[in-house]
Amino acid sequence: MGGMSGPHVHHEHSGHSLVKAARLALQESGEQWTEMRADVFAALAERERPASAYDLAESVSALRGKRVAPNSVYRILDLFVRTNLARRVESANAYLANSHPGCRHDCIFLICDSCGKAIHLDDDRLTGALIGAAREAGFADVRPVVELRGTCADCS
Ligand SMILES: [Zn+2]
Ligand SMILES: [Zn+2]
Repeated sequence: MGGMSGPHVHHEHSGHSLVKAARLALQESGEQWTEMRADVFAALAERERPASAYDLAESVSALRGKRVAPNSVYRILDLFVRTNLARRVESANAYLANSHPGCRHDCIFLICDSCGKAIHLDDDRLTGALIGAAREAGFADVRPVVELRGTCADCS
C-alpha cells in the first residue's frame, strides 16, 4: 500500500465490475453488503462529481421509495472511507466512489472549479515523495490528502 514500489497491475473498475469489487472489498474487511449499503454505493458510483451525504440521501430516498436520513447515509459513507470503497474529497466536503477498492493508493484528485467534476490520478512516486518529506519532518502515520483545483479540459 502507498509506498514507492514499482509499477503493478492496477484495475480501475466501473459499472457492474466496480460494484462487484466494492462488495468484495467490504466483505473482506468483515462487513456485510446490506441492501442499504448497496444502494448508497450505487448512488455514489453513478456520479462523476463529488457528492455530499445530503445529495446521496436524496438519491437513495428516490431509489428506495422512502425517506432516508442524511445521517444514516453519512455513517455508511464513513464506513466506505474506512474500508477503501470511497474517498472523501476534503476541499469539496463530499465523496467519490473509489474506482480501485481492492487496491490501496494515495489518490490525487483534480477538481474542476467550473463544473465540479473530479478526476483522479495515482502516482505512487509523487505521493511517496510527499510521505518521505513528511517523515523527514518527524511525522508518523502520514496520509497524503492531495487535491488540485483548476479548470477541466471540457470547461477550459
Ligand atoms: Zn487512486
Ligand atoms: Zn469542468
